[in-house]
Amino acid sequence: MALVVCSECGKQVSTLAASCPSCGAPVAGAAASDRQAPLVNAGVLGKAVVAIGAWLVVPWVVRLLAFLAGIAMLIVMFRSAR
Ligand SMILES: [Zn+2]
Repeated sequence: MALVVCSECGKQVSTLAASCPSCGAPVAGAAASDRQAPLVNAGVLGKAVVAIGAWLVVPWVVRLLAFLAGIAMLIVMFRSAR
C-alpha cells in the first residue's frame, strides 16, 4: 500500500482508497494500476542492467561457452524445423 497526495486537498491518501477521506475527491483507480506499469518496467530494466553487468563481469570463457551454447541451440532448432 502506498500513499499519494490528494490533488484536491493535498493530504495523503491511500492508493487503495476509492476517494479522499478528507475531501472526498476521487482517487483515480486507473492511476493506481498505471502506477504498476513503471514498476514493472523498472524491474525489467533492472534485470537487463543486471544481465548486462553480469555479462561484462563474467570471464570471457563463460561468454564463449554461452555463445557456443546459443549457436548449438540455433542449429538444433534449425534441424528440428526441417
Ligand atoms: Zn483530498
